[in-house]
Amino acid sequence: MKEHLARLIELQKIESAAGRIHTKRKNLPVQMKMLEEEFNLFCECVETQREQVESVRKHRQEKDAQLQSGQETLKRTRERLFEVKKNKEYQSMLKEIEIFEGKNSQTEDEVIALLDELERLETALKTKEEELEIRRRGYEEERKKIEEEMNALAGDLDGCVRKSEELRNDIPAELLRKYEQIKGVGRGVAVVAAWKEVCGGCHMSLPPQLYNELQKTTALITCPNCSRIIYWENRNG
Ligand SMILES: [Zn+2]
Repeated sequence: MKEHLARLIELQKIESAAGRIHTKRKNLPVQMKMLEEEFNLFCECVETQREQVESVRKHRQEKDAQLQSGQETLKRTRERLFEVKKNKEYQSMLKEIEIFEGKNSQTEDEVIALLDELERLETALKTKEEELEIRRRGYEEERKKIEEEMNALAGDLDGCVRKSEELRNDIPAELLRKYEQIKGVGRGVAVVAAWKEVCGGCHMSLPPQLYNELQKTTALITCPNCSRIIYWENRNG
């Protein structure tokens, strides 16, 4: 029985370890997704800034074209001024020229303001793009790390499954059934250590007599409270 108990203890340790690996493996894809979302959000932010720069650039080109056409109109009007014979017509044309000049000057101011804005936005975009590259490298490194960890965990889990199968082959079927049954009601834990008269599974006190017996016997003893198989673990050693 002593040997069987030792195997049961080992089996429990391996299966608990496998359970922890399972939990980690479940968490890693969540971590990966969070990482991805964070990076994508930043990419979108940079993309929005890029679009903004593009839109201001386009606006500036339009204003440039508007200014050019305004200047041509002004030039043509000035040329026509020499052909005018009547004074009244001449005066009205001068007024027209004045209006054109005013409009062109306003467009010029707008072009200058757009150039300023464009320069500011382009500088900000450049900084953001540099940060994006740094983040991209960090993101890819982190991704790789998670992928490697997933592979390592898969390997560890395979190891656990193999060991657990080996152990199970050396444990009598009747005992294994009992182990599985307790595991089923004990939230996956059937074998626990007891120390200082306390059950390591339910953390309740054990009767002193039972605790004494546990330290001497090789028989299978279960916790009167949680029904798990208990074994004495000398933590002073
Ligand atoms: Zn217990």
